[in-house]
Amino acid sequence: MKAHPVTIVWFRHDLRLDDNPALLAAAARGVIVPLFIFAPAEESPWEPGAASRWWLHHSLEKLAAALEKSGTPLLLRHGPSLDALQKIAQQCDATHVVWNRRYEPAVIKRDTLIKQTLLASGLICESFNGGLLFEPTQVATKEGKPYQVFTPFWRTLLKCDEPAEPFPKPKTLSAPAALAAAHKKNPTLDALGLLPNPDWAGRMRSIWRPGEVGAAARLAAFVQKPLFAYGNERDRPDREGTSSLSPHLHFGELSPRRIWHAVREQVGGKPAAQITGDAEVYLRELGWREFANHLLYHFPHTAAAPLRADYARFPWVNDPVGLRAWQRGRMGFPIVDAGMRQLWSLGWMHNRVRMIVASFLVKDLRVSWLEGARWFWDTLVDADLAANTLGWQWAAGCGADAAPYFRIFNPTSQGKKFDPHGEYVRQWVPELTKLSAADIHAPAESLPQTLAAAGIELGQDYPEPIVDHAVARQRALESLKCVSNGKRS
Ligand SMILES: Cc1cc2nc3c(=O)[nH]c(=O)nc-3n(C[C@H](O)[C@H](O)[C@H](O)COP(=O)(O)OP(=O)(O)OC[C@H]3O[C@@H](n4cnc5c(N)ncnc54)[C@H](O)[C@@H]3O)c2cc1C
Repeated sequence: MKAHPVTIVWFRHDLRLDDNPALLAAAARGVIVPLFIFAPAEESPWEPGAASRWWLHHSLEKLAAALEKSGTPLLLRHGPSLDALQKIAQQCDATHVVWNRRYEPAVIKRDTLIKQTLLASGLICESFNGGLLFEPTQVATKEGKPYQVFTPFWRTLLKCDEPAEPFPKPKTLSAPAALAAAHKKNPTLDALGLLPNPDWAGRMRSIWRPGEVGAAARLAAFVQKPLFAYGNERDRPDREGTSSLSPHLHFGELSPRRIWHAVREQVGGKPAAQITGDAEVYLRELGWREFANHLLYHFPHTAAAPLRADYARFPWVNDPVGLRAWQRGRMGFPIVDAGMRQLWSLGWMHNRVRMIVASFLVKDLRVSWLEGARWFWDTLVDADLAANTLGWQWAAGCGADAAPYFRIFNPTSQGKKFDPHGEYVRQWVPELTKLSAADIHAPAESLPQTLAAAGIELGQDYPEPIVDHAVARQRALESLKCVSNGKRS
């Protein structure tokens, strides 16, 4: 080993200085070379979508500024990742390369190859868990097998040792002399081409604050108040009852350990297994995130194919017109349209509404869950392969812990139940603003004079329902009989 260790810190989905195990290990050893490589093709077919790229641009900007403040500029490079790592290692005379692990199948494959090649060239490589509470292999059945149902997974997770306390930022960071020369070769952030052209991100800019500081502020605000009403409010899209931390978590601007312990602290520091009420409900959601990663890690084929193999026989319908109308929020079902328009505008949609719109696409239109997953992938700022795959296969009934095949959301009653005053619909479907709470979720069932008084001509100002839900439900049940006898396999 060379006398003065120089460690490349390969930033990926860990765009933070706080509680970053790879960065800490590197800083403790000596000088560091922080590096981000943009290599979307290596994640194919799930290279970052348009909304994710927008987020990434701003998150990198913030990370670069934070590192710069500590005296270590961030190197930016285009892929291929292996080439970039080898070149930087040579230029900076690096001895070590460290990173925090990711669990998407294409990324695991790439990282394994990179690790083997770098090790063979004499570099020391180390990877860390910086993105999950537990490694996907740490929670297992008594037989050492992966779980496919959430509740037993969660029970076992709670029996594990409490996740380690988060580490603070490294006190000092220092860079090797050669970093300055390498930094001069940086492409500008704009040259990565992450921002949309034309610029459609105005609404996103107004509500999101990508980066570590924005993430910490959102967490602090959430645990102060909304956390204590989370159990009741989390299903209400008309309220700000959830944490909206998902994009920060996806890009690793905040560690799940930091959230876990912040929540525990708010309820007196009890062990998680003893926590009840709102805080327990919230920790359980972090448990779903762990479960999603556990599934994707153990069943990597599920990013493209149903976990339940019998569903490969489902007679999906090729309906480009229906799919387009769904994407645009023009289904004639207000809660569905509101959700799809919220997604288009903010790059985010409330979880309850994600379930409703997903059910509508796969059950009422019988369009494949993969079409929905792809659209979410491009439009969500929190697009995450593990959570997206789990969510879509849950809705389609073809994944682990899926909704039973006969559970087909009725979009009208879901709207009435979870948006009882119609406020969410009014916000996103302004053409229905003048309808009362009683009418707003089913304009097609409203009296002609009610519609006239609200200034709505159906088919003109707002679409007629694209399907008769009762008929569509029956058709879906018939199709589902082809693949399943209704029992869990
Ligand atoms: C069809 C469908 C697709 C989805 N796609 C994604 C996706 O691409 N990325 C994504 O992060 N979430 C996805 N989800 C899960 C969930 O909708 C979002 O995590 C949640 O709405 C984010 O808002 P929040 O941060 O306010 O959540 P909160 O309610 O505050 O939950 C806290 C955190 O727990 C995690 N979480 C919550 N619910 C889930 C879940 N069901 N599965 C996995 N993790 C969860 C998220 O990291 C979230 O930030 C999807 C759900 C469905 C039904």
